[in-house]
Amino acid sequence: MSFVPPGSGWPGDPAAPGTPVAHDAADVVRLAGESRTVAELTARESVCRACPSLVKWREEVADVKRKSFADQTYWGRPVPGWGDDEPRILIVGLAPAAHGGNRTGRIFTGDRSGDWLFASLHRTGLAAQETSTHAGDGQRLIGARVMAAVRCAPPANKPTPQERDTCSPWLARELALVAESTRVIVALGGFAWQAMWPALRAAGYALPRSRPRFGHGEESVVSYGERPVHLLCCYHPSQQNTFTGRVTAEMLDAVFSRAATLAL
Ligand code: SF4
Repeated sequence: MSFVPPGSGWPGDPAAPGTPVAHDAADVVRLAGESRTVAELTARESVCRACPSLVKWREEVADVKRKSFADQTYWGRPVPGWGDDEPRILIVGLAPAAHGGNRTGRIFTGDRSGDWLFASLHRTGLAAQETSTHAGDGQRLIGARVMAAVRCAPPANKPTPQERDTCSPWLARELALVAESTRVIVALGGFAWQAMWPALRAAGYALPRSRPRFGHGEESVVSYGERPVHLLCCYHPSQQNTFTGRVTAEMLDAVFSRAATLAL
């Protein structure tokens, strides 16, 4: 089997054998729009098969595995949003890593980017543990929720515009279902920043006509109903960025400390 069957006992698996499966973009629109709770939505996200190339690739990776993980079962399914169901802070990333989220079934879990992210979230009081290694490891987000713009691991971490757009209704619905509690949204990287805007609009946010440019530490404000919601930009803690020093632990901590302050 090239993926974990829904409801077969994987820790935190939101789906069951009968969870409806999206097979194309129209199904994603319908099933996302009809989801009434975060639990129902994440279950449906986690069994989606709407992008044929991504489905093939994520399952091939899960079959072949990386040598160092050869004895492990890979999740091999879309990786849904994870964390607090009534978050004050949302963190939006790009997509799961092939041998990270695609292996562990939890976003930013089991890869180098996640090591940097969760260490910072722990230092700033937003995560219970400093590491996030596997589903069922006791990790817990505190008032925060992490999600990706695209839910399936893409080759070379580069989803196509069509795949980004096909996945967007899942993101928009998740943003809408947690909007009442959301005070701050952190975009990790330019891809997430660009993907987030149409999803925010679809989720019912009022946005300025011109989209602010992405830059580390940049802040802007949008509104949901009468309430302001702060958007923060943060460089993605990818290996390329952390190796080269473009992103440091201090830079991540500054963004998440600021998010925690704004969310009070
Ligand atoms: S990328 Fe999104 S829309 Fe495409 S198959 Fe994965 S979960 Fe479904």
